Amino acid sequence: MKCKRCKDTAEVALPSHHAGFCRDCFLLFFSRQVQRAIKDHAMFGPDDRVLLALSGGKDSLALASILADLGYGIAGMHVDLGIPNSSEGARAAVERFCEQEGVDLIVVELESKGLAIPDAKKKVNRPVCSMCGKIKRYYFNKTALDMGFDVLATGHNLDDEVGRLLANTLRWDTAYLAGQSPYLPPAGGLAARARPLYRLGEFETAAYCFFKGIKEWSAPCPYSKGASFTVKKRMMSELERESPGTKLSFYEEFLKNARPMFSERREYEGGPPEPCPECGYPAAGDLCGVCRLKTLMSG
Ligand code: SF4
Ligand code: ZN
Repeated sequence: MKCKRCKDTAEVALPSHHAGFCRDCFLLFFSRQVQRAIKDHAMFGPDDRVLLALSGGKDSLALASILADLGYGIAGMHVDLGIPNSSEGARAAVERFCEQEGVDLIVVELESKGLAIPDAKKKVNRPVCSMCGKIKRYYFNKTALDMGFDVLATGHNLDDEVGRLLANTLRWDTAYLAGQSPYLPPAGGLAARARPLYRLGEFETAAYCFFKGIKEWSAPCPYSKGASFTVKKRMMSELERESPGTKLSFYEEFLKNARPMFSERREYEGGPPEPCPECGYPAAGDLCGVCRLKTLMSG
């Protein structure tokens, strides 16, 4: 196969784009997809300070690498979950990357806050991944706001987005459908959130890391059996194989044609959340989820 752009030998085939690329042209293609996502959704500009959520996996490190190359003002943040035989490796991958690339890094250790995931799992009777997600979102958001970042960016890719979209659609969960977007402006006490990799799938971010020599942490989390959307992602990949381009068009058409209707409805239904009296984070009840969890853990 020949590279679509320069006609040299292609090293990556991308059926969804009806194209194959050599290394250099693939990196250019990747960069253009990210720039297009940022521009189309007015995610952030060259003067904005971007806080990047870095898990140590390929997606977040690929995002950090491309945003650094594009000259954006980024700082990384990692939440050390305190999971034995897992969190050490993930943290080391993030630290190594940030050191090599000269990216400032903020690390939050859950153990020091009494919230290490294995302890929380023992104490709280709810799915570990939803609790873990809630804690991570809390610290990323809070740090972005407390430290005056303009936006919080995460490495969610197209597979993550369509997996979630399919799950939300199967439940017709209108609140979640209204909240699903590659960019959400600051609202309700939360920081602005951006997903600049939403036009690129897992395969593309893996190829990017490979070509750039990025050493990500790839071992699955020991609790990942409970992780959401795995089956939905697989189903979407099946559809993509049958009909290349399905994932991106499913997501883009949702953004264009369906999401506005759900958003109108959400504005009508939902009042703004109250700030948590302990920490100021948006709370649905008397305390925010994390302060409630802390109380439970210390009891
Ligand atoms: Fe957290 Fe679940 Fe992901 Fe593990 S798999 S890091 S527990 S969300
Ligand atoms: Zn709180």
